[in-house]
Amino acid sequence: MAKILVVEDEQHMVSVLRDALELENYVVEIVGDGREGLDRLKFYDYDLAILDWGLPLMSGIEVLEHYRKTGGQTPILMLTGKDQIPDRQTGLDYGADDYLVKPFDMRELLARLRAMLRRPKQMTESVLSLGNTRLDARKFQTWVDGKPLSLLPKELQLLEFFMRYPEQVFSQTALLNRVWPNDCEATNQAFRSALKRLRKKLEEAGSNCQITAIYGVGYKFEKADME
Ligand code: CA
Repeated sequence: MAKILVVEDEQHMVSVLRDALELENYVVEIVGDGREGLDRLKFYDYDLAILDWGLPLMSGIEVLEHYRKTGGQTPILMLTGKDQIPDRQTGLDYGADDYLVKPFDMRELLARLRAMLRRPKQMTESVLSLGNTRLDARKFQTWVDGKPLSLLPKELQLLEFFMRYPEQVFSQTALLNRVWPNDCEATNQAFRSALKRLRKKLEEAGSNCQITAIYGVGYKFEKADME
């Protein structure tokens, strides 16, 4: 029985969501403004949150950005009005796991929620591994083939992020938003040099995983094709 936080201010949408989610036996908590939504996310545990973009006091994007930058890991589905979202990337760049444009079909929303809830608990695990590469996020240690790999803090954080979302492509902006805590350090140059060093270290240590650039889109972490 999953517990879901809904942050939404429109009364009609609130009652439609509440009815549909409760019918599916989810435990539902509803708040009507962004600031309260952020507080709940920070201080309570949810399996998932549905976050509206347009909210009083704090927009959904601000909530999302703030929550992710302070390490919040609850999966979030963002709801947006047609006119609010310039392109799909924006919400996902700030750390949404999925998004839906209003008006949406409730069956579609429920299907997305089920898919999100089925995803492995990679988000909360502290030991992550792919191929011969392993990372312990709590001990700040990385190993390749069981041998310790020495990484600088930013390289380790970048690798940790990639390992939490293997095979998923992230734009450079998304990676900067998610891995670099504040805007003055989050420069393209900082990203490129951390990426370059990390790739080199992984390769030299004999990792069978790699960070692949997808031209014009971004980067993903995957097991290298060894053939
Ligand atoms: Ca709204």
